[in-house]
Amino acid sequence: MPDPTKPVEDIVQIADYKDYKNTRFIKAFVKKTGLKGKKVLVKPNLLLPALPEKAVTTHPSIVKAVVEKLLDQGCTVAIGDSSVQQSVFGGLMRVTGLKDALKGLDYLPADVDSLPAIKLKLRGFAEEQTAPISSALKGTDAIINLSKFKTHSLTGFTGAVKNFYGLLPRKAKKSYHVRFTNTAHFSAFLVDLAASIQDRLPVWNLMDAGWAMEGDGPNAGDRIDIGLLITGKSPFQVDRAALSMVKPAFSIHTDKIADKLGLIGEFKTTGVQKTIKLKWPKTYLPLKALSWLPNLPLVNRLVPIPKIMSNCIGCGICVKACPADAIKLVNGRAKIDSAKCVRCYTCAEACPHHAIKTNKANLMTRISNLVVR
Ligand code: SF4
Ligand code: SF4
Repeated sequence: MPDPTKPVEDIVQIADYKDYKNTRFIKAFVKKTGLKGKKVLVKPNLLLPALPEKAVTTHPSIVKAVVEKLLDQGCTVAIGDSSVQQSVFGGLMRVTGLKDALKGLDYLPADVDSLPAIKLKLRGFAEEQTAPISSALKGTDAIINLSKFKTHSLTGFTGAVKNFYGLLPRKAKKSYHVRFTNTAHFSAFLVDLAASIQDRLPVWNLMDAGWAMEGDGPNAGDRIDIGLLITGKSPFQVDRAALSMVKPAFSIHTDKIADKLGLIGEFKTTGVQKTIKLKWPKTYLPLKALSWLPNLPLVNRLVPIPKIMSNCIGCGICVKACPADAIKLVNGRAKIDSAKCVRCYTCAEACPHHAIKTNKANLMTRISNLVVR
């Protein structure tokens, strides 16, 4: 007999994105949110303009099913995110397949980077009291958080909790990367952001773990077909439900911090359970090993620096994405200034050619990083 006092994280297995169960499950989920007639902000993961089959962004069929059902329920729907690249929102919607998928549906595009920011009051877990967040939240009754199951070179994993970072304009995201260079501190900020957004308005979560990513995510990893959709009211519980299926198990800072703060709590999972064999990013072990040390530049020098590969075409996208102004184009190729680099891996996230690799640092690299001015 199900315990009615515990929140439910529901998981469904889908054969592919055309599977009828997919739409049926999503429609039941939207109905359960009880958002009839409300103003809803739908927040997919639109990291960069990548084709759906690359598993970098939330699959368009998932976004479409959610938007259709919300419109059926008389909701006003906006769709918003901030890309890691300095890209035009229309182009982002087109390449990720959203523009075609949403053709004929009445929704408002909410480009987080061109809208002004408003102040969000934080709980203060990461010593920040406020954060600039998209004004798309103003007048919005609820958020439907459509995250993607992916590994992440800096935080280990990006799912429901980290997806809220895209509600901050790119400029603010860049400045936080420079300030929170330590993965534990950055993760504490992400937890604070997710909890504080929930303080402001109701949030519902659906994680797209149909086509997911392993290895050096969130952009340059490898696609892994998991075939699951995970839903729930709490982003912390949705991430925990996803991570509990992963082998080899790895504890992620956002999950550990949320647990310590009592944000996860007890919940039960219904539906499919499976074992997800996952390759973690190469960078994560060294980052994790160093994360207990203070958030100081010298400590950060022990973290492996990304490497520009020979397939760099000198497009300059990483130059614009780098929050520390550490990349220049030299002779038509990107070059990283190791003294300026804060090891945030935003460049590897942004490079559309997968020409920036994140490596395990050997001892000599770490020592040489330390002695650089
Ligand atoms: S590393 Fe990638 S993003 Fe940077 S210039 Fe080269 S191809 Fe462009
Ligand atoms: S070079 Fe890459 S890892 Fe270093 S600060 Fe810039 S974006 Fe971050």
